[in-house]
Amino acid sequence: MLEVRGVFKSFGQQEILKGIFMSVQKGELVFIIGPSGSGKSTLLRCCNRLEEPSTGEIWVDGIDILDRKVDINKVRQRIGMVFQSFNLYSHMTALQNVTLALRKVAGKSRKEADEIAHAMLNHVGLSARADFYPSQLSGGQQQRVAIARTLALDPKVVLFDEPTSALDPELVGGILNVMRMLREEGMTMVVVSHEMRFAREAADRVIFMADGKIVEEGPPEQIFGAPKQPRTQEFLSRLH
Ligand code: ATP
Ligand code: MG
Repeated sequence: MLEVRGVFKSFGQQEILKGIFMSVQKGELVFIIGPSGSGKSTLLRCCNRLEEPSTGEIWVDGIDILDRKVDINKVRQRIGMVFQSFNLYSHMTALQNVTLALRKVAGKSRKEADEIAHAMLNHVGLSARADFYPSQLSGGQQQRVAIARTLALDPKVVLFDEPTSALDPELVGGILNVMRMLREEGMTMVVVSHEMRFAREAADRVIFMADGKIVEEGPPEQIFGAPKQPRTQEFLSRLH
């Protein structure tokens, strides 16, 4: 479903991604962990072209998204992204935040966009909050609006960059539940997160990144229970 082949990315003189190969199957939930600054966000951002890789290929559902001829709107529809900071428009209601992309990016009519948006807000348990503004919603509710907005475009893959890091601890569980639900529905997901317990329980595969490279990957039992690489062992031992 998602295939990253030999991606390098530099900012100025600094090489941040140093040859990433990553393959995510349909319906898989892949977790990416690693130290701060190792390039996790940069990798996700390359996957929906918020950053342009210096070299490499990224294929999504049979399309090379780095191809200059590919419509960037189509790329963003295929590969949804959920951010730590929600990125909602504060002057728009929950419903308007969801319909905006449907109308602007997907070209839906107002009526169609409203129907889809209501269905998506309902799906994430927010049907009663459709007309609330972000300032009237909790962080967890805002993040669920952001997830509804992403799902509304019917993406093939959803990338999550620390979706619970900005939330109070008691609100984290609600977002993890939404992600569990998506997993059960067969959504393909790549998740950067520090929620190691969730990774153990829900991830099909865990990738450990350090210094712009994939150091080790495997099932959660292996990565958390018996990591092979000293760099992985060192990282995980510091978490306890
Ligand atoms: P964290 O766990 O703290 O979120 P990360 O693994 O997501 O870290 P990235 O955000 O991908 O790390 O950043 C990797 C490196 O790339 C960092 O050294 C950062 O300073 C650098 N970097 C990221 N974006 C840019 C940019 N737009 N311009 C210059 N340098 C950047
Ligand atoms: Mg990051």
